[in-house]
Amino acid sequence: AYDGPSKSEVLAVRQQYLTPGLITYYRDPLLLVEGHMQYLWDETGKRYLDAFAGIVTVSVGHCHPAIVKKVQEQVGKLQHVTTIYLHPTIGEFGKKLAEHFPKGSGLTQTYFTNSGSEANEIAILSAREFTGNQEVISLRNCYHGGTQATMALTAHSTWKFKTNPTINVKNALAPYCYRCPYGLEYPSCGLKCAKDVENVIKYETSGQVAAFIAESIQGVGGAVTPPPGYFEIVYDIVRKAGGLCIADEVQSGFGRTGDRFWGFENYGVTPDMVTMAKGIGNGAPLGACTTRPEIAAMMKNRIHFNTYGGNPISMTQGLATLEVIHNENIQQNAKTIGDHLKHRLLELQERHPLIGDVRGMGLMIGVELVRDRKSKEPANTEAADVMEKAKERGLIIGKGGLFGNTLRIKPPMCLNKDDADFLVDTLDEVLLELKR
Ligand code: PMP
Repeated sequence: AYDGPSKSEVLAVRQQYLTPGLITYYRDPLLLVEGHMQYLWDETGKRYLDAFAGIVTVSVGHCHPAIVKKVQEQVGKLQHVTTIYLHPTIGEFGKKLAEHFPKGSGLTQTYFTNSGSEANEIAILSAREFTGNQEVISLRNCYHGGTQATMALTAHSTWKFKTNPTINVKNALAPYCYRCPYGLEYPSCGLKCAKDVENVIKYETSGQVAAFIAESIQGVGGAVTPPPGYFEIVYDIVRKAGGLCIADEVQSGFGRTGDRFWGFENYGVTPDMVTMAKGIGNGAPLGACTTRPEIAAMMKNRIHFNTYGGNPISMTQGLATLEVIHNENIQQNAKTIGDHLKHRLLELQERHPLIGDVRGMGLMIGVELVRDRKSKEPANTEAADVMEKAKERGLIIGKGGLFGNTLRIKPPMCLNKDDADFLVDTLDEVLLELKR
């Protein structure tokens, strides 16, 4: 049993000594003290089904025994040396990652970082050096990080500081079908939003851009899933303007979308660069940017160094995570359980008018709540209430979107069918209770 400080003590110390910028979910924050696979326990011993995975990070299960064993061994042997010396794990992991990219893509060279923000920083820097162009295009409603350059990419006012010294970023319309910026419907829309990128380049840039960066499915933005064909059109436009195409796979990679290992593969495109974090390491502070040799060579233009990037502990955890993804058919599970979940959530939508939209792929699902299906007024306080009541019943989910009205269901990918049923049944009960 847990014998550490009480919740109020933990909270008080945090408030006294840590940055006040730290936010917590829930009116009464959760103190979590133990995890195993898809479950978490609080200080009282209460168990929760974790359907948010530490914000889509714990890909194959909390404290997965096979991963814990390998990391513990490595910690006891050698923890840190930096890349100025040789250690076998970094090359081994780089090789394994390269084997996961489509054949002929040329995506073979990896720069390891400690976070997704850093991975995106490297991608943008390399793209600018390679193309000699300055301007970068990202999508409205995207999230690419909290460092200065990635905050500039991120397109939600809630995540941008007033003083953000933006790098030169232009935001194109988000392929957000449920709230189509043109009020059109797929496929009769003719993918007008994708073609908008051409106008952004024509009217808002010099005509030549360094890069286009996009999440294959927008995560923080609420599982906004671009329609088929979207990326093909955009990649074509961007490449004609001299830019590189960057796929941010921080949330959508490593099998999460079920059908494919990478989110971009669902769209039949091949990016010039892929950035990763979160699910790559099942919770390790680990990020990566993979690209082709001629683009990767740009990092030799000056000395660039990252003290912890590629450290033996993170590399061991990343390698062990990949092994589990394969040994335990994680991607197939994301597909099977994800399909089941989505099917049941769509049934729920028929009975609960609050559910305006159910979207996503595999185990990356968004449920957008609205007060009125016609006006689509965001039901943000209702979403917060659903989260609170779900927590009381032992279910942890996330929320996202600019208005915080989209429930985000992105569990560790070891979720089983009973868990998925518990999840939907719990949401059903909670929505019924809200109606009363
Ligand atoms: N890209 C995406 C798609 C993300 O969701 C996030 C984190 N939410 C990041 C980048 C930034 O990652 P990190 O917090 O590790 O810097």
